[in-house]
Amino acid sequence: RNPRNFRPMPDADAHAEGFNPLCGDRLTLYVKLDGETIRDVAFQGSGCAISVASASLLTESVKGRTVPEAERLFASMHELLTRDDSTVDVASLGKLGALSGVREFPARVKCASLCWHTLDAALHREAAPVSTE
Ligand code: ZN
Repeated sequence: RNPRNFRPMPDADAHAEGFNPLCGDRLTLYVKLDGETIRDVAFQGSGCAISVASASLLTESVKGRTVPEAERLFASMHELLTRDDSTVDVASLGKLGALSGVREFPARVKCASLCWHTLDAALHREAAPVSTE
């Protein structure tokens, strides 16, 4: 309802665009790096409540982490959202754990994971927009 870090970042070191055609979610994710540390992260765009909430949680969760830590979080979130036999410790994910219920609604999994794929693309400096299709 009141997303965190929903703003442009003119001095971003990296950014990527993500699109989920199934739902129409569209976002741009911005990252400011200090060496291997993610100093700041923000997003803009428009999408459903789940995609915006997920991106908001992402920005709160990865700010201050290193790039490898963010990549591990991406792997955990991907497993949590896509695998019924996930062994990810939900409690260790803090607020992100709230998204585990999305797994019960396959059509919404891409809404929740879009921002993570977009972050991954930004960190790898991939120029092509990310599509969940
Ligand atoms: Zn959506």
